[in-house]
Amino acid sequence: MAKSKKQFKTEVQELLNLVIHSLYSNTDIFLRELISNASDAIDRLRFESLTNKALIEAEPEWKIKLFRDEDANTITISDNGIGMNREDIERNIGTIARSGTRAFIEELKKGTEVAPELIGQFGVGFYSSFMVADKVTVISRKAGDDQAVKWMSKGDGSYTVEDCEKDSRGTDVILHLRDDNKDYLEEWKIKKIVKQFSDFVEYPVAMDITREEFPKDDEGKPDTTAEKLKEIEEQTLNSMKAIWMRPKSEIKDEEYNEFYKHISHDYTDPQEVIHYSAEGSIEFKALLYVPARAPFDLFTREERTGIHLYVKRVYIMDDCKDLIPEYLRFVKGVVESSDLPLNISREVLQENALIKKIQKNLVGKILKTLKEMQEKKPEDYLKFYNEFGKVIKEGLHSDYSNKDKLQELVMFESSKTDSGTYVTLADYVKRMPEGQKEVYYICGDKRETVEQSPHLEIFTVRDIEVLYMTDPIDEWAVQSLTEYDGKKIKAIDRGDIDLDFKNDDEKSDDDEKPKEDGQYKDLLEFIKSKLEDDVKEVKISNRLTTSASCLVTDEFGMSAHMERMFKSMNRDAPPSKRILELNPQHPIVDIVQQLFEKDKDNPNPKLDNYIQLLHDQALLAEGSPIKDPARFNRSVSDLMILEGSGLVKKAKAKKGKKATSD
Ligand code: ADP
Repeated sequence: MAKSKKQFKTEVQELLNLVIHSLYSNTDIFLRELISNASDAIDRLRFESLTNKALIEAEPEWKIKLFRDEDANTITISDNGIGMNREDIERNIGTIARSGTRAFIEELKKGTEVAPELIGQFGVGFYSSFMVADKVTVISRKAGDDQAVKWMSKGDGSYTVEDCEKDSRGTDVILHLRDDNKDYLEEWKIKKIVKQFSDFVEYPVAMDITREEFPKDDEGKPDTTAEKLKEIEEQTLNSMKAIWMRPKSEIKDEEYNEFYKHISHDYTDPQEVIHYSAEGSIEFKALLYVPARAPFDLFTREERTGIHLYVKRVYIMDDCKDLIPEYLRFVKGVVESSDLPLNISREVLQENALIKKIQKNLVGKILKTLKEMQEKKPEDYLKFYNEFGKVIKEGLHSDYSNKDKLQELVMFESSKTDSGTYVTLADYVKRMPEGQKEVYYICGDKRETVEQSPHLEIFTVRDIEVLYMTDPIDEWAVQSLTEYDGKKIKAIDRGDIDLDFKNDDEKSDDDEKPKEDGQYKDLLEFIKSKLEDDVKEVKISNRLTTSASCLVTDEFGMSAHMERMFKSMNRDAPPSKRILELNPQHPIVDIVQQLFEKDKDNPNPKLDNYIQLLHDQALLAEGSPIKDPARFNRSVSDLMILEGSGLVKKAKAKKGKKATSD
């Protein structure tokens, strides 16, 4: 096929411009990214060759080789992996915007110090070549094909693709170094970078090393008077050590950290390392990491690397989803088992009983590690929880078998914590006053809103702790959290609240108040008839102390917060009517009662106004929108005029005077 010139997808070009013009620090990582791509390409072919030996017959050894050419100013990263055909190249490099492209651009555009190391995490590592090169050529031949293809770009908006010759399978990435990046041609520099970033790559990363030596004289000693002899020798630059197979005691922290960066494409050290060997009914080795930061796509679920699976030292896949439940998707690492068949496919994995057992074991170990972290290193746990707490809560919903362990790990802010600090359910129960039988919580979109909630009033007065569930996921998670330590977990804006457990001497005056529903019976009925479309019942409240009204969900209805979330997702919430509660101690309720008694049989717009306002205020207080803001405004204006009517008369009179004197 003829040579063709094509334009990069706009997004890719935008990314390239940013890479070329804004990433200067630590450009070394381009080599890590390209070696990592080469190693991935070999992994893939190795896996395919398990079922199709012919693919590698001509060249059964795996290798990544680096070539330096000082005359041409190029460095080449060459692998004998799976290779790409024309279609693959166009799909993978340049045209189709990969999911991470946009996210990475946004990160770069934030303009603050961007670590170029981030690039790998976003799945756009290839483009880091343009940090050091002003022209990149890729020559590739797919395993099993005869035809090779050449791709070339100067990073200036376009690239070319054409057919070409290549003797063997695999990919050569040739970087034409910019003038100010020529130091990447130096042997020592390449050696150092490979050692630092790619020591664990499983395949040899080789390079020709030139050795200069004086020739030996007759006695075998170097003849320093003669001209030096140049000898070229291929050297493997990395140690290729399978770190997870080595004993824990021999491994340094730095080695664990480097390996983590290698498999995760993350650039920060992990928060926690879990390395163990399972023995007994199942045998396997696991090296797992809890990252220090959540990846950008934790919730969009586009993460490409999770747990790498090896069978008898052979790489099988880099994201073995069956080894880890979805809510623990942030854990990275390697699992190696010798009991699985080598030719295991993704479909078989799902059904495999051994995999299920391994998964169970891994989950147990991870949850145990987190628990230990929570107990022994609370500061680390807090950091972890701020990054990954949300997904742990997801687990409450999805991993019923580990519910007991997970409910120890979740934490919430509360009416007794400062903002940003949390309480566990265990702590909550420990400091509950004697007699309290339930764990109380309130859902809302942020701390400031729930703190203002009228539902909280009685709890504040009685000094009873209330958990603040302000994560969007909390409302769902808490549905699986029905009980803790034999205590019901109860929303304070739902159903009846019974705080009668307090000791007599702690009871306040209002505890002695008899139930007042009877006294207000007719009024409550009347209000209900006025608000029929919106509320299912009107009651006298025992939870309000300062506000006049609030809305309460009945035991099984949908809460206001859930309803708001539905609406924010543009989904229709099933219509739900709630209970309007009134505070009999509040003067407004008193006024309403008086107006009602005076005028119950005649239409009274003032009374109607008061009733609507009591309902609207209850909505506003919990952060819900009111149905008819224009009517609300009118009602408030009417009341303001009424309140200030004396002043209005004065103002009019003054104006009148002024007009006549003018
Ligand atoms: P990532 O490697 O994170 O997916 P890159 O931008 O580095 O992102 O690479 C894009 C894609 O190009 C890879 O997913 C792979 O399909 C292909 N690719 C890159 N380098 C090679 C290579 N050496 N051999 C085969 N395919 C490669």
